[in-house]
Amino acid sequence: MTIGNFRPATVLIDETAILHNIQHEVARLKKQTQLFAVVKADAYGHCMLRVARVAKAAGATGFCVAILDEALGLRKADYSEPVLVLGIVPSQYAAIAAAQRISLPVSSTEWLEQALPVLEAQPELPPLRIHLALDTGMGRIGFTEDQALKTAVAFVEAHPKQFVIEGVFTHFATADAPDDTYFKQQVDKFNHLVNLLPSRPRYVHVSNSATSLWHAACNGNMIRYGVAIYGLNPSGDAIPTTPFPLEPALSLESELTYCKQVHAGDGISYGVTYRVKGDEFIGTVPIGYADGWLRRLQGFHVLVDGQYCEIVGRICMDQFMIRLPKAYPAGTKVVLVGQSGDQEITLLDVAKYSKTIHYEIACNLTPRLKRQSVNPVD
Ligand SMILES: *Cc1c(COP(=O)(O)O)cnc(C)c1O
Repeated sequence: MTIGNFRPATVLIDETAILHNIQHEVARLKKQTQLFAVVKADAYGHCMLRVARVAKAAGATGFCVAILDEALGLRKADYSEPVLVLGIVPSQYAAIAAAQRISLPVSSTEWLEQALPVLEAQPELPPLRIHLALDTGMGRIGFTEDQALKTAVAFVEAHPKQFVIEGVFTHFATADAPDDTYFKQQVDKFNHLVNLLPSRPRYVHVSNSATSLWHAACNGNMIRYGVAIYGLNPSGDAIPTTPFPLEPALSLESELTYCKQVHAGDGISYGVTYRVKGDEFIGTVPIGYADGWLRRLQGFHVLVDGQYCEIVGRICMDQFMIRLPKAYPAGTKVVLVGQSGDQEITLLDVAKYSKTIHYEIACNLTPRLKRQSVNPVD
């Protein structure tokens, strides 16, 4: 996608905030527990390679991604740390992963059976590192039945040149909820399934950010630390307190490209859903839903000069309009996410207004918005 380098619209990434959000968590971990930084989806919109560099400086010893291509991106950028893909990769690509020492999750013996000839065709490769996924209640990927798990382990043991079990893991559905009843059921099921394994693999891991922040006792020896890297509370505000303050890393800034005075009765934007009531000043901001600034943010606000300004009229693909308290010249700073004066708009504020979660808002900020570091870490 074309990056808007000549447009005043920037996602600012505070590298020092990322450093702190990881360092604080590393300091809380038991000595033998490692932190893998989850940098999938371009690091939740924060730029994968930038975050990977800071994460490593902060003490992360490995990475998790969602798809094989993201793992290859890390290898291409010369990261030699362990990289685990969290989603199922088609078995036909098993040799690509083996060659690059990328670890893949395994959910069934069928997958292993299909990957076997792919790996046998390239006998010079090291064995594929696999992490057995255990479905303890997420209902997404993983073994659920004792016998299916045992069969898969036996299959791996029969093919040591092709496969090595490097890890076993599960994923919790409710680690970010105040009620831990379901969470505890998942822990019990996990312990039951892990006890069926002939030995404990190198990595036993269950924790996303929420689990590590609020249920650290069950961490295992590696955590998959994602959203908290970016300074976002995994629960939104359902569990308001975190063991250390999370520092939001992302802000989104732009500038007015145009400002004009309008008069009673004038209409603003498609469908004329906003009609001007008296003499008003309307500013135009060069960001739209094609950048991930959702159309349903109409009626929300941005910050100009430390003041809240309502988004008026429909948000267009590439621009939207705001009502200003007075005339401001083109070039005036507009804060969509972040601080201006004494005021702040957080990703959670944007998410709540849009009836979604802050994860989704961050991931939706498209590559057309240029990314720039602030407070860099070297
Ligand atoms: C995305 C993901 C994580 C990271 O979750 P956060 O809530 O962002 O910490 C961990 N594990 C798995 C399996 C995931 O898919």
